[in-house]
Amino acid sequence: MSRATTLPAYVPGRAAVPGGLKLSSNELPFPPLPHVLAAIREASVDLPRYPDHRATVLRERIAAEHGLDTSWVAGGAGSVGLLQQLCLAHAGPGDEVAFGWRSFEAYPVFTALAGAQEISVPLDARTHGLDLEALAARVTDRTRLVLLADPNNPTGTTVSAEAFHRFVGRVPPTTLVVLDRAYHEFVTAADAVDPAAALAEWPNVCVLRTFSKAHGLASLRVGYLLGRPEVVDSVDRTLLPFAVNALGQAAAHACLDPVAVAEMALRAGAVVAGRQRLARELRQLGLPVSDPQGNFVWVPGVAVEPEGIATRVFPEGTRITVGTPAEVDRVLAAVEAGGLARTDAPTRAQGWLDRLDAVECRLAELADGGSRPGLTAPDPDGEERWEWAQVWAHVAEFGPYWLDELELVLRGAPGFGRTKKDPHRVAMIEEGRGLGAAIHLRAVLEAMARVRRTLAGLDDTAWRAASRHPTLGVMDLDAFLTHFLIGHYEEHAAQLESLGQTGGGA
Ligand SMILES: *Cc1c(COP(=O)(O)O)cnc(C)c1O
Repeated sequence: MSRATTLPAYVPGRAAVPGGLKLSSNELPFPPLPHVLAAIREASVDLPRYPDHRATVLRERIAAEHGLDTSWVAGGAGSVGLLQQLCLAHAGPGDEVAFGWRSFEAYPVFTALAGAQEISVPLDARTHGLDLEALAARVTDRTRLVLLADPNNPTGTTVSAEAFHRFVGRVPPTTLVVLDRAYHEFVTAADAVDPAAALAEWPNVCVLRTFSKAHGLASLRVGYLLGRPEVVDSVDRTLLPFAVNALGQAAAHACLDPVAVAEMALRAGAVVAGRQRLARELRQLGLPVSDPQGNFVWVPGVAVEPEGIATRVFPEGTRITVGTPAEVDRVLAAVEAGGLARTDAPTRAQGWLDRLDAVECRLAELADGGSRPGLTAPDPDGEERWEWAQVWAHVAEFGPYWLDELELVLRGAPGFGRTKKDPHRVAMIEEGRGLGAAIHLRAVLEAMARVRRTLAGLDDTAWRAASRHPTLGVMDLDAFLTHFLIGHYEEHAAQLESLGQTGGGA
């Protein structure tokens, strides 16, 4: 099995159906500006050549825009490119990367890619915003990065300048605080963080900006980082050669033209007006929408998937991108026509997550307590009887297998599963009996982390998945989790607990 199979994958917003609307990726609803197109056309004569690796001209332009020296600016393939570079440059095995959750999809992906430990801290349950107090409490001297999406994607909240100030004051100076300002141009809150002031005040703060959102260049992949020259240098060392393509560099440069900046501000203003109207009218329809600060509106606790409109549905709620006024009308009409379903995904997941926590504790205690003698009782429908280490080998082996199968089921596979005679299963149990419980426990904890991530990512549609097992018939997700994952861990924890106490469990 390749290492990649244990990495979480980035999940993009859904595509539009023909004739439908795509409001699932926070894209700008306007066409490119004519003179930006002209700059792209002009740059295209150089397509046979590699672009300027460090995007010097663009960086100089950005630096001037912000009144900074060029050594304070790094370019990247979108701000996600820079996020990946930051994780690779600053965090590795043994280090931690902290962020609120739910937040931007890419954060856990890049944390895992760097081999670092993720510290994800639940959002404030009342405001759905980042809980900076709770986050500060979880930061340790092993925390290399804190990733703050501000506004937070998907919930649209900003942190106040005061809360940010208190937060940075509490984290160690060795922790780099990344203020991800992908939606900077849409922020209207009076108490929002001023990124320039934050940069000037704190040596361990850097700011991410992008041309993807308000400037409408998502497809060209240009983002930038503002920060101390050491931070800039650290990301430059992890920049994929020529990652910022020439068309992107030219287009972004054209976007910083005073005329283009003024035009962008008008367009961002139109999006903000649409956002406020969408939020207000959704509130009038009785939905608990708070104060959105990006180019999207967060509707907590419900799935909004109207016919023909692609939105981004999470287990905790729905994110709707603000489009043109006509598109906002279409969303409102669809919601009024009944395109709403309350989501009970978080509640369903929570019950299972609580059981998982409990069985994790039991297994950790068992592994700690040393090996026990005897053989397990034969299982009801078979004659397998195992000693301590064989049970552990099985417990360590089945998690990754059933997680892969669960992914198949969630992708709509008609059938799944194996039987007790499966040669790989038999071989793993035989091989693993020579290893200690502590080694198996490590594999178990890894698999359990994957179970948690999978469960937390299931929306209502996912919870309706079902598939056929060769001997047990059609099973829904609850049955799957009972038989193969969480209930399965519980069953074997009980089996291990019974060993050595009843004279061998026979
Ligand atoms: C959209 C988004 C980005 C940006 O992506 P690009 O790679 O610049 O296109 C970064 N952070 C957050 C929080 C976002 O929502």
